[in-house]
Amino acid sequence: MKRFGLEAQLEDLKQQGLYRSRRIIDSPQGVRINIDGREVLNFCSNDYLGLANHPQVIKAFQQAANKYGVGSGSAHLICGHSTAHHALEEELAAFTGRERVLLFSTGYMANIGVISALLGRGDVVYQDKLNHASLLDGGLLSGATFKRYLHADVDNLEKKFKPSLLSSKSMIVTDGIFSMDGDVAPLVELVAIAKQQQAVLMVDDAHGLGVLGKTGAGVVEQFALSQNDVPILVGTLGKAFGTAGAFVAGSELLIETLIQKARPYIYTTAMPAAVAATTSASLKLIINESWRREKLQSLSTQFRQGAEQLGLTLMDSNSAIQPILIGETQKAVAISQRLLEQGFLVTAIRPPTIPKGKARLRVTFSANHQTKDVDALLNALEQLF
Ligand SMILES: *Cc1c(COP(=O)(O)O)cnc(C)c1O
Repeated sequence: MKRFGLEAQLEDLKQQGLYRSRRIIDSPQGVRINIDGREVLNFCSNDYLGLANHPQVIKAFQQAANKYGVGSGSAHLICGHSTAHHALEEELAAFTGRERVLLFSTGYMANIGVISALLGRGDVVYQDKLNHASLLDGGLLSGATFKRYLHADVDNLEKKFKPSLLSSKSMIVTDGIFSMDGDVAPLVELVAIAKQQQAVLMVDDAHGLGVLGKTGAGVVEQFALSQNDVPILVGTLGKAFGTAGAFVAGSELLIETLIQKARPYIYTTAMPAAVAATTSASLKLIINESWRREKLQSLSTQFRQGAEQLGLTLMDSNSAIQPILIGETQKAVAISQRLLEQGFLVTAIRPPTIPKGKARLRVTFSANHQTKDVDALLNALEQLF
C-alpha cells in the first residue's frame, strides 16, 4: 500500500487538527458515562430522551431476545422479516400518519437506498448545503444531477430550478432538524416549492423524531405536514428512540417500490427482531410520556439564557442540539479538551463535517439531564471563556 501515501495523509490530518480518534466508553449510554475509568457528564449523545438505558426498554429487549433469539438470520426478503418487524412498521405508520413504513438497518442505508432507488441519470436532486452526509452520498450514488442550495435558503433553491429541467424527475432533500446546527428546515416553504415545481420532497427527521410534536412524531407533526406535503419521510431509531435502525414512511406505492428497488434494503441482513420489538416499547414511552419533550425544551431554554449571558455565540436552534460557534478548528478542539479535563464531554465538530472556519462545540441535551447539570456546564464555560 506504499503508493497510497497513507502515512502522509494521516500526518496531514494531524497537522490540521482534523485527526479523529475514538473514545472507549465503559458504561451504558447516559447523562453520566465512564471514559478511561472516569465518570464524565455527557453533553454529546443523541439519546435525547434517555431511552437507550431505560429499564422498560431493557426489559423489552431481554424478553424479545428470549422470544426471537439474537440474529435475524437473513435479509427481509428471504426469511428475516419477523412479526416484530412487521408490527413495528405498522405502529410507526400510525405514529407518523403515513400509509406505510419500511424498516432499514441504519439511517445511512435508508437515505442512500431511497434516493438511489427513485432517481437516476437525467434526474435532478436538490439538497440543502448542510444536509447529512448520508443524504449527499445517496444523491451522488443515484447518478442524478446534483444541485446544492444555500442552507435553508428557499430563494436560492427556487433559482436552481431551470425550465430546461422541468421534464426531469426531481427531488428536494432536506434534514428536518440540521444535525450540526440544530435549526429546523423551512419546511412549509419547501412544501410549496416542491408542489409548484412538481418535485418530490424528502425529509430526514433523524433529530426531530421523538423530540418535536405533541406526540413526538417530529417535524411533520409540529408543522402539520401530511403525506401529500412530505411524500418521503425518513426517521432513525438510534437517536431519540434509543435503539438502532431506521425507517422510511410514505405511500403504499413508495414502500412497494423500495422493497423492489432499494439495494441497501434488499442486500442486507434484517435488523435483529429483538431490536424491532424493543423499539415498539420505546415508541410507547415516546407517545405516552410527553414530559421528556417538555424537559428537553426547558433544559435548552435554560442553557440558551445562560450562554447568552456569558456572551457565547449560539446558533438559531430550538432543538436539543445547541452548538456554540467557536470558528477556528484548533480552538474548538482545545476547549473541548479543557472541558473533558474538568469532567464534561462536549465534542468539537470540525471540517469536513461542517464548513471551514465554523468549528463548534456541539452541546446536546437529554431529558435525563438536570438543571444543575446545565448550571455546571455553564460554570465551566464561564471559566474557560
Ligand atoms: C444520524 C443521522 C443519520 C444516520 O442514521 P444512522 O441510523 O445512525 O445510520 C441520517 N441522517 C441524519 C440527519 C442523522 O443525524
